[in-house]
Parts: sequence; C-alpha cells; structure tokens
Amino acid sequence: MTGTIQCDVAIAGGGLAGGLIALALAARRPELAVVIVEEGDAIGGNHIWSFFDTDVEPGHRWLVDPLVAHGWQGYTVLFPRRRRQLPQSYASVHSERLDAAVRAALPAGRVLTGCHLLGVGPTALVLENGTRIEAGGVIDARGAADLGLLDLGWQKFVGQIVRLDAPHGLERPVVMDATVEQIDGYRFVYLLPGSADTLLIEDTYYSDGPALDRAAIAARIADYAAGRGWRIAEVLREESGVLPVALGGDFEAYWRSGGNRVAKAGVRAGLFHPTTGYSLPDAIRTAMLVADLPDLTAPALHDALHDHAAAAWKGRGFYRLLDKMLFRAARPVERIKVFERFYGLDAGLISRFYAAKSTVFDRIRILAGKPPVPVGRAIAAIRENAK
Ligand SMILES: Cc1cc2nc3c(=O)[nH]c(=O)nc-3n(C[C@H](O)[C@H](O)[C@H](O)COP(=O)(O)OP(=O)(O)OC[C@H]3O[C@@H](n4cnc5c(N)ncnc54)[C@H](O)[C@@H]3O)c2cc1C
Repeated sequence: MTGTIQCDVAIAGGGLAGGLIALALAARRPELAVVIVEEGDAIGGNHIWSFFDTDVEPGHRWLVDPLVAHGWQGYTVLFPRRRRQLPQSYASVHSERLDAAVRAALPAGRVLTGCHLLGVGPTALVLENGTRIEAGGVIDARGAADLGLLDLGWQKFVGQIVRLDAPHGLERPVVMDATVEQIDGYRFVYLLPGSADTLLIEDTYYSDGPALDRAAIAARIADYAAGRGWRIAEVLREESGVLPVALGGDFEAYWRSGGNRVAKAGVRAGLFHPTTGYSLPDAIRTAMLVADLPDLTAPALHDALHDHAAAAWKGRGFYRLLDKMLFRAARPVERIKVFERFYGLDAGLISRFYAAKSTVFDRIRILAGKPPVPVGRAIAAIRENAK
C-alpha cells in the first residue's frame, strides 16, 4: 500500500490513548474520517490495564465499559502491620477488546496495523512503506516522549499470568502485598485473579533506577507463589513495565520533545498519574475531550490538548511533592512506611488519590502528623518542590 490517504483526524500510535480516541470519535463524530496507525499487529498490543471504579467519571463509563474483561468488588492491601480490605470496585481492560472495538468502529481501511511511522507532523503522517496520510489534524499518541527531561523515580515490575494446579482462592485483587522482603526500594506483589486457577502475579518495585532484572524477578515470583502454597502448572504470559514516577521537570520541554506543534495524547502528553504511572483514567478523559472539540484542525487540536495536559501537570504538583518525599526524603528501605501509613487513611481519600482528585482536606490529612520519613529530609523535599 502506497499513495496518499486523506482524512479529518489521523492518530499516530494505536495504544491505549490512541485507541480510546478512535473509539470516542467514531461514537460521537461518525461523520469524520478517522485513521489510526499502529506499528504492532493489534491495537493496544498485548496488555491488561486496570483501574478503580472511582477513577472514571460516570458520564464517561460508556467508553470503557465494553472493554472491561473482569471486575471485582473491593480489593485488599497487605503490610507487615496492616491488613485491609477496601470497598472500591476494580476492573481490568484487555487489549484484545480494545482491538476488536476499534476494528468494529472504524472502516477496515482506516485501521492500519503493522505500519511503522517514520514521520509525524501537525497535519501529516509518513509510513515506512511510503504511504502519506494527510489530515485536518494529527494526534500523536506513540507513548513516552523524552522522559530524560523529567525528574523521575520508577515503578517497575515483571508480571506473569499463571495457571495453578489448584484454585488460588482469591476473590478480589491484592493491590499491594508488601509483606515480602524489601529489595531495590519499595517492593510489593500485585495479584489479579482471573478464573479459579489463573491469576496475574506481578512483582513490583518503586526504585531509583529503571533497570529490570527479569530473570531474578521471575525467580522471586516463583518463590512468592510457593510461599503461598500455589504450584504453578504453566506460565501463560509474561509482561514487564518500567513506568515513570514524576518528581518534577519542565512540562513544556517535555511536550516539545514529542514534536513541535503536534497535538499529543497519552504518556506522550505527560498524561499519567505522577505516583502510579497509570494513564487509563487520563486516556479516557482525553478521548472524551477530543470527541467534544468543535474544531479538530491542527492548531485548535494542538492548543486544546496542550492546554489540557499543561493544566493536568500543573494541578498535580502535590503528587510530585509526595513522590519527592518518597524518593528523596525516605531511604529506599523506608519507602514501605510511607505506603503503610497511607493505607491507614480514609477509603474515600485513598480513592480520590488514585483518581488524582485529592481535595485540599485530603492533602492536609496526607501531610499531617509525624511523617514516616526523617523530618529534616521531608522539609528539604517540600522546600525543593516550592522552588
Ligand atoms: C505492562 C504494563 C502494565 C500497565 N498497567 C497499567 C494499568 O493497569 N493501568 C493503567 O492505567 N496504566 C497501566 N500501565 C501504564 C500506562 O497506562 C500504559 O503504559 C499505557 O499503555 C500508556 O498509554 P499510551 O497510549 O500513552 O501508550 P501505549 O499504550 O504504549 O501506546 C503507544 C502505541 O504507539 C505505538 N507506536 C510507537 N511508535 C510507533 C511508530 N513509530 N509507528 C507506529 N506506532 C508506534 C506503539 O506500538 C504503541 O501501541 C501499564 C504499563 C505497562 C507497560
């Protein structure tokens, strides 16, 4: 396939953010010609994205609900001195559903998978095979831009979906099991039950560096399963992630690093939760924003998405301050104390934290009392954040 394709909106990168924008535009603006270009074989790759019910505004649920493969009432956290069940519902989106939904929503010729993009500009995409796509407006959703421009810690993990030789007995996700040995920063295991004998076991680290020793972590997953009395019959799938935890950085420089004057979405736009690195709630919000924009030509699209992302970044300074406390004030072995204390707080506060919607009172409550890290270093982190 070569030549030129004309369309109203072209989406570069068919991952989470790009796929959701395509779906929202197809539903809300069916008169528009939308093209999405993804270098992988499927929209969304091979991913599971999870979120809390309270992360998504009720008016936006229609976009994500058809993509949800599993849902649970409540979740558990486990710490050496705290075991707690929280009431918030939790759900997982599977990329297979995103892929099927996008292919059902757009005409076949407008979902281009297996196509590597060489060039992305405000109004045109150039594919490796020479095809040119000309659009009223382009949205670049190809994942992270230059993360080196941000001050970051890392949340990194290896996860295995395993089949056990007997039922695991878990009824709901364990979002953090921090009763494990603390290694390389704050370590916890995340458990997501599937069918009676399958589950995702993810060994996670809040670390200063992004390096991931997959073999060592896979061995720890095996040890963890054995410690719970689970015998792994088969590893069905393995995934890994190295997600940014934002402590600070120059948003405008980051935005420009993803392409000058090009509208952006997803992690490329800096739209992720500063503490968890998760981006699904932002991706839904952004898709809805794009679908409601009266003008989808390049300059209007750029300004609307830039202003949206800049406002989100500015409004999340509190989370970057907490991240600084976590990475700069707490020594790596002390980070567990920060989370253990946090999970003793009110359930509503915790859910607003994950939705990046903490109230002023929540912020005071989180910072109030004796910090679980040395006071001098906590004050230094606050001062640095105020600069
Ligand atoms: C293993 C893992 C698990 C995660 N779990 C969660 C979770 O549970 N909940 C949550 O909210 N967040 C989660 N995240 C974090 C974050 O939400 C995801 O990384 C999310 O996929 C980011 O969305 P995005 O659209 O910005 O980028 P991506 O989903 O990575 O999409 C970018 C797309 O662009 C394509 N692309 C890149 N370059 C080109 C090119 N030159 N030409 C064509 N296509 C290109 C890529 O192939 C990719 O499909 C997870 C991340 C990982 C890695």
